Amino acid sequence: MLSDYHIHTCFSGDSQTPPEEQVKAAAALGMEEICFTDHHDYGSKDMTRIDFTLDIPAYLPAIRALKEQYEGRIRIFTGIELGLMLREQDYLKALTPNLKVDYIIGSSHFVDGYDVYDRAYYAGRTEKEAYRRYFEATLERITALDCFDSLGHLDYIVRYGPNKNRDYCPDDYLDIIEPILRTLIKKGKALECNTAGFKHGLGHPHPQEEILTLYRNLGGELLTVGSDSHRPQELGTAFSQTAGLLQACGFRYYTVFHERKPEFVKIR
Ligand SMILES: [Zn+2]
Ligand SMILES: [Zn+2]
Repeated sequence: MLSDYHIHTCFSGDSQTPPEEQVKAAAALGMEEICFTDHHDYGSKDMTRIDFTLDIPAYLPAIRALKEQYEGRIRIFTGIELGLMLREQDYLKALTPNLKVDYIIGSSHFVDGYDVYDRAYYAGRTEKEAYRRYFEATLERITALDCFDSLGHLDYIVRYGPNKNRDYCPDDYLDIIEPILRTLIKKGKALECNTAGFKHGLGHPHPQEEILTLYRNLGGELLTVGSDSHRPQELGTAFSQTAGLLQACGFRYYTVFHERKPEFVKIR
């Protein structure tokens, strides 16, 4: 079983799940290790009704205590899902060097002052324009910022577009997606395979297989896997299927992070 490296708890503004419930779910699935990655979208308060600011001084000790409690049964690591935004770059650059976490997912949730989850983001633009702008913003952010280990859910935007992924073809955006992949590889950053696409009825992970294969063919080796679970029943979504899917995309190993350093694990 793959290890889940994208897990939310009640420390995230959009989850009610106590951390221990996620640990129990992972142990029941036979996972050797997991990493918690609660939301920290600093500076997003004017764009959403939900507070996505993480209470870091409360969060880190809570996960550390669970790690000790479950020692010998399942290995628990501490991460965060950090919202990338250029306007907050001073804060992000100051925060991360001394943050005592094992792993940082860098994600784009907010673009041009909107939560891309909200309809307002799509007003006045075609779906294609909305998707293109999302990829452009992601490229700008990962080019300017180094404060993350893996790029979260690269094509997250297709979860929330008017037609979701019905008309989505990665080829239409390759002029931006390929530079995103090349930038990750050049910087030694990982790409995330986020299996929440299955839960959202897309029939694919984020990003889609075509993009995962391209990343591998360009020389990308660092690949993390996460379910983006907000509830225990979502933990490890489609992981058995995803192991085969990743092998078909050319991967023999996936990556976990301990103290911000990547380690390769064979996909079985
Ligand atoms: Zn996310
Ligand atoms: Zn997430």
